[in-house]
Amino acid sequence: MQELLFLLLPLAFLSGWQTAKKRYKKAQSQKRQLSDNLVKGINFLLSEQPDKALEVFLSHPEIDEYTAETYLLLGNMFRGRGEVDRALRVHQNLIGRSGLAKEQKVAALLAYGEDFFAAGMLDRAEGVFQELIKNNEGDVQACGTLRSIYEQLQDWDKAIEVSLCAEKHTGDDHSRFIAHYYCELAKQEFEAGNIHLVEDYIQQALKSHKQSNRVLVLQGDLENRKNKPTLALKKYQKAISNDPRLIGLLDSRLIETTKKIGDIELLCDYLRKLLAKTKDEKILEYLVELNLRFGIDGGITELANDVRESSSVKALQGVVRLWKQESNDDGLLVDRYGLLDQVLEQHIQKQTEFQCHHCGYKMNDFMWRCPACHYWDTVS
Ligand SMILES: [Zn+2]
Repeated sequence: MQELLFLLLPLAFLSGWQTAKKRYKKAQSQKRQLSDNLVKGINFLLSEQPDKALEVFLSHPEIDEYTAETYLLLGNMFRGRGEVDRALRVHQNLIGRSGLAKEQKVAALLAYGEDFFAAGMLDRAEGVFQELIKNNEGDVQACGTLRSIYEQLQDWDKAIEVSLCAEKHTGDDHSRFIAHYYCELAKQEFEAGNIHLVEDYIQQALKSHKQSNRVLVLQGDLENRKNKPTLALKKYQKAISNDPRLIGLLDSRLIETTKKIGDIELLCDYLRKLLAKTKDEKILEYLVELNLRFGIDGGITELANDVRESSSVKALQGVVRLWKQESNDDGLLVDRYGLLDQVLEQHIQKQTEFQCHHCGYKMNDFMWRCPACHYWDTVS
């Protein structure tokens, strides 16, 4: 019996070896096929035949970790080119595959959510990201995109919630965003006339960001609503002292509030003092504009000296217009100042007042959030 076993051992070894050889050959053949398919698919992509490329990629029965990465890149590339339908097909196919590593499954789901977001299907995107957060997967990216979704939906409560979630997972400081969201809530309640809620939200915003100028503006609006213009003006003035870019945004508020208290000269006095302290050109430009709009007498020489020290073409144009007003209908002077005014106006028309320092978008009005890239506090 032992002899028989001894004879059978080589046979068993031979059989095992042949099975292993067959498996190896099959795996090699699959790898070759996979590699051939990748090359074929990429060739279709390079020759601008994306649908044929998709057919090749998506019809392949097997997928390994390397091809999963390729699929992710492919889908992201389609999304980057604005071809969201194709991106969705790739990522959906990937999610449906068995045998993916957990990280790849999460990456595929995140990409799938991003596709919906890019397609403007915010509810679908929200569902994907919420599910990921519920399972404690891909939290950082999911929180970031969810925040953008809630900003678009103007669901500020949820935007606050996910910002806190992002802070928890990344350790990043989101307090400025959170303060803006509370300000948005305060603005909504202000418009609805729920003053006690406005006060609550302002306090919450201050807790998040003590130095928020937007909160100062809201506090000024609130004091005005309570018929306390002196307090309102103080808040607006404080906001301008902190950030002179806000002058344009606050223009009508400043004038109306000052008029409730007294003469427009009151506002000019404040601005003159602030200008002497800061030498800020936005303040100079506004001061010149007020002189023109309200026909304030005197002070042109001082303004002209300030213009000399600054590089503001807008303030120079204002002074030229003031000189024109002062020229007592002297035809020659009126013509000369008129010509200067015209040339300066053409120069000013080519310029924009504000620019987003994140994406470079240019605009004429100050905004808390860039309308192009949707970043907060990037307009200057
Ligand atoms: Zn921007």
